[in-house]
Amino acid sequence: MSTPRYDVDAIRAQFPILSEPVRGGRLAYLDNAATTQKPDAVLAAIDDYYRHKNANVHRAVHDLAERATTAYEGARDRIARWFHAAREQIVFTRGTTEAINLVAYSFLRPRLQPGDEVLLTGMEHHSNIVPWQLVAREKGARVVAAPVLDDGSLDFDGWTALLNERTRFIAVVHVSNSLGTVNPIDRMIAAAKARGIPVLVDGAQSIAHLAIDFPALGADFLTCSAHKAYGPTGFGCLVGRREHLDAMPPWHGGGDMIRTVSFEESTWNEAPYRFEAGTPDMAGAVGFAAALDWIESVGLDAIAAHEHRLLVEGTALLADIPGLRMIGTAKNKGGVMSFVMTVGHAQDIGTILDQYGVAVRTGHHCTMPLMARFGVPATVRASLAAYNNRDDLDQLAMALRKASRLLA
Ligand code: PMP
Repeated sequence: MSTPRYDVDAIRAQFPILSEPVRGGRLAYLDNAATTQKPDAVLAAIDDYYRHKNANVHRAVHDLAERATTAYEGARDRIARWFHAAREQIVFTRGTTEAINLVAYSFLRPRLQPGDEVLLTGMEHHSNIVPWQLVAREKGARVVAAPVLDDGSLDFDGWTALLNERTRFIAVVHVSNSLGTVNPIDRMIAAAKARGIPVLVDGAQSIAHLAIDFPALGADFLTCSAHKAYGPTGFGCLVGRREHLDAMPPWHGGGDMIRTVSFEESTWNEAPYRFEAGTPDMAGAVGFAAALDWIESVGLDAIAAHEHRLLVEGTALLADIPGLRMIGTAKNKGGVMSFVMTVGHAQDIGTILDQYGVAVRTGHHCTMPLMARFGVPATVRASLAAYNNRDDLDQLAMALRKASRLLA
């Protein structure tokens, strides 16, 4: 059986913003690791929610409140299915950052003793460093980071060597936002489990590119952000093992997270509601569910294969640009091309690319320790999604040649 052709034109046609002129010309949107664009199906789901279903959830008996609750809790079912998890395992958050903070404060903080260690890797996003630092500092514990090899992959032996009886928790990025490196999380989780150490996987950069079966993975927690997977901004979730979530105390107080309240004492709702204080982002949940439906309709494997083809083509195009050095060349790598150029600073290159309609990210990408590891203050990062095509890569290469000439 032959596999169906990947119709990138038909996919592009579903993303209205891709035909938006920028600087008076064609947009080559290559800033997908920062945030992805949204297809019609997601925009329509959010619009439909506000036009036909909006009311506050969980609290009223009227028709609209019922529709809102059905839409919101239906989204939880849909998102749970994506991870092969139960609905009770899905805690809605504002995104990866909030989900990591939730685990740091509600799960780790009560367990952390002076002298304990939280083991990270040298390629973590600041969101997967700072929350651990905050609780570690308070408890007299410390954060330890495993080394990264020259190709941008994890030094697995170096990581293993840091595992010891003081290691209380492990957090690791699944796919590096700065380099695209895919970490060997299966092996890492197996090693952690053998020692009984809980593991959090930062899935911000992976859920739109790699299938994740949460129970099979064996991690204790996984975090994600809808906006990096064609969904709305400010929404995401924590996926957690039930026995952890059931035992964890609340971390934000307010409406919806309680069972009873009196001035003497309050009691808590069950997980996941215990962690969802206040009126939630109903439209966010609906939009995220629609985004996952959209990914499924195209096929996650087909998207990943398309991005890989573009990564290979793009890497070859960039290799021909004089003075360009790729940072992050790991064998197992997602659709990220991070590089520096001898002609000038990443910021100046990015500014010139923008003049030619090429949207890339320049800077430290919220991974300052990783930039320090490679001895660069910043990189230019082009990152891929389902709707990118060869024209985007050619436009990038053309603009880089212009930048080389202008800055020389
Ligand atoms: N971790 C990684 C690897 C990321 O790429 C990002 C977003 N750049 C985050 C965490 C934080 O995600 P958010 O800002 O959506 O909370």
